[in-house]
Amino acid sequence: MARKKYLIWNEEIETMPRKELQKLQLKRFQETVERVYNKVPFYKKLFKDAGVKPADLKSMEDVAKFPLTVKQDLRNNYPFGPFATPLEEVSQIHATSGTTGKMTVTGYTDNDMKVWAEVMARVYTAGGTKKGDVIHNAYGYGLFTGGLGFHLGAHEVGATVVPVSGGLTKRQVTIMQDFGSTVLTCTPSYALVLAEAVEEAGLDPKKDLKLRIGFFGAEPWTDKMREEIGKRLDLEAFDIFGLAEIIGPGVSVECPAHNGLHIAEDHFYPEIIDPETGEPLPYGTPGELVFTTLTKEAFPLMRYRTRDRTVLHAEKCECGRTVVRMGKIMGRTDDMLIIRGVNVFPSQIEDVLLSFPELSPHYIIYVDRPKDMDALTVEVEATEKLFNQGWDALKEMEGKVKKGLAEALYVSSNVNIKEPFGIQRSQGKAVRVVDRREL
Ligand code: ADP
Ligand code: ZN
Repeated sequence: MARKKYLIWNEEIETMPRKELQKLQLKRFQETVERVYNKVPFYKKLFKDAGVKPADLKSMEDVAKFPLTVKQDLRNNYPFGPFATPLEEVSQIHATSGTTGKMTVTGYTDNDMKVWAEVMARVYTAGGTKKGDVIHNAYGYGLFTGGLGFHLGAHEVGATVVPVSGGLTKRQVTIMQDFGSTVLTCTPSYALVLAEAVEEAGLDPKKDLKLRIGFFGAEPWTDKMREEIGKRLDLEAFDIFGLAEIIGPGVSVECPAHNGLHIAEDHFYPEIIDPETGEPLPYGTPGELVFTTLTKEAFPLMRYRTRDRTVLHAEKCECGRTVVRMGKIMGRTDDMLIIRGVNVFPSQIEDVLLSFPELSPHYIIYVDRPKDMDALTVEVEATEKLFNQGWDALKEMEGKVKKGLAEALYVSSNVNIKEPFGIQRSQGKAVRVVDRREL
């Protein structure tokens, strides 16, 4: 029997007619509003300040009347203030990785854990994972939701999971080879590190490894990076998105059509707002992504600003799913660099760098302000081949990259091409932007 191109874990929900889905969302949104208003004191105050009551939510058009929430609301009520259940109902606690400040704590009831397993099963299935697959899970295990979220979903689909976590890269390659791993899960930057280690071990991924599928997320990456990883590890790379506050990984994932990430919309209601004014924006217009959890018990969130920038599309996908798709994350609103008044996203820089085969996909972006003028410096690695061509070739290449960046960004930058392995590798989330203007 031919393998079905599009596998779907929960056909009933994932292909539900939108009208029906919207009915379900309204009912669940109403429940969430009641829950936060009655169980979480800081919401009661937010509602009061905005002059709304739970009963004011009569249709989805009313959603915009309700207050937005931000990370600071969670930090102000650290650690358990945002929980809507007593601590004894909470069976698991996680925290965000604290990329942008003090960590925020999240809690799950038994039912929340079931929801997490369900949405992660949808993720795995969307990429074609099944019972019989061996999943090499190199997301970090611990307070970070990545490792345990992928672990949970692996059990739900009945696959075999290898909880390697991050680090000891050489040993990871041995494990992938010896265990015949078919699915790889980690950050895209660590996938590159693994690809390098595979090459260094003299292995040919086509012959020596059995990898078929990879789920990469937790940090922004471009389609060019997808090609690079897919080619070097001989697998099909899928983008997976999530954040600890909403559930962890499992909020959305790509299907083989690779035209956006399908959101588990029966559990997480997405909106796009104008990051300046907070006004809701229509589908198709890019802005800041906002989520309301529709079923979470321990840690419900209403209209939570993710600070991630993307765009939503509601047309049915060729895979049959009817749920809304979000575009690839363009970066965080606070990742957006304003260089001499021009908005620059790190993903634009990645696109330019990866269009040069003479460069390795390892880079870091520095922003400084010598003498009151913003200065952008991009450090990127040469491939062995380029590096061996010597100084003149490197300088010529720097000129080309500089020109490419200026054309794409509309601001000038300094380009520094480093020797192979001249840029530090990351085990988890890569730090790609260092803003030294505040220092
Ligand atoms: P922290 O906010 O401390 O990094 P998390 O570990 O919960 O905590 O990370 C969630 C964030 O990671 C998201 O808000 C988003 O910025 C980023 N992220 C997660 N998955 C992706 C993805 N597939 N593409 C781009 N960014 C992602
Ligand atoms: Zn699809």
